[in-house]
Amino acid sequence: MIELPYFIPPEVKKIAKIHCSINNCHYWEQGNICHASEILVSKDSWAAQTPDQVDALQAAQIPPMQANSCMDTCCKTFVEKGSAEIKADQITRN
Ligand code: SF4
Repeated sequence: MIELPYFIPPEVKKIAKIHCSINNCHYWEQGNICHASEILVSKDSWAAQTPDQVDALQAAQIPPMQANSCMDTCCKTFVEKGSAEIKADQITRN
């Protein structure tokens, strides 16, 4: 388990609300709310070549990167409902 360099209080995580319209994602719920415990947004090309096991829990170790537009970014935490890969990144549902 990789340790984060800082502590994020649980109440801060609850305040952060992510709106998302991708309703075939395991973390999506009615009202277009993401219920993942945390997510990782990255550059499309980096996400495409990085294993599913690398996600928000490793965020502090991931090199910062630049995107050319919103079309060049993605939610790496996305996993399709019912997929066998749901637990690959150890992200949980709130
Ligand atoms: S994990 Fe990403 S794609 Fe899935 S609901 Fe949350 S923000 Fe949307």
